[in-house]
Amino acid sequence: MKEISKSDIDTLLKLQTAETQITRIQSILEKINSEKEKLDSKFRKFQKAHDEKEYQLEKTKAFCREMENEIQIVGERIQKSNENLRFVKTNKEYQVLQREVDDNRKRKEQLENELIDHLDEKEALEQEVNTSRTDLDQLSEQTRTLKKEIEEKSSDDQEELDELLVKRAEISKNLDPALMDNFNRISKMNNGLAVVQVKNEVCMGCYVNIPPQLYIEAQRYNSLILCPQCSRILCYIES
Ligand SMILES: [Zn+2]
Repeated sequence: MKEISKSDIDTLLKLQTAETQITRIQSILEKINSEKEKLDSKFRKFQKAHDEKEYQLEKTKAFCREMENEIQIVGERIQKSNENLRFVKTNKEYQVLQREVDDNRKRKEQLENELIDHLDEKEALEQEVNTSRTDLDQLSEQTRTLKKEIEEKSSDDQEELDELLVKRAEISKNLDPALMDNFNRISKMNNGLAVVQVKNEVCMGCYVNIPPQLYIEAQRYNSLILCPQCSRILCYIES
């Protein structure tokens, strides 16, 4: 086992204290970020539904305009045929033109009836889009306010985290790089808890009894003692 000193153990303990605080704050900040993400995603979903409604409205409006144009064209055709009726010379010509007028009148009437349905649809969609726009504006405002609140709340945590990261780096400087590697490896395996106390022959990380010989070793601070069960670094603290 690697030779170490009491001061290494003290440094490891300090490092663990910083690490534990860092892990705690990081998990708080992660939760905050996911809260913000949830708000954004809710807004995006609403916005998408609103855009879809707007698109439907525009489509219906364009369709109504097309129908109105067609009605106008058919109307003009009727008018022209009516004018031509005055100049026909034969009965046959008259009948052909008259049939044309009748057909176009029927077509116009049909188009006008269809247009009424589409205008109703357009009106309903307009109302829907207006309501949806009001709701969207409200949600946008609400999302902005909530996110601002969350950011304000988390700014202290962020500041504390930055300070702790500096502190951890400072502590790390006093530690042998090999020991630091050990710490990082064990920390990664144990959700950020690499160094634990050993008390009355019990590992305070996994609460399993350790062999008496190891307990004695831990009290000598000469070597790095790992828990046989959870592999964490064991520190004996005199009480
Ligand atoms: Zn253990």
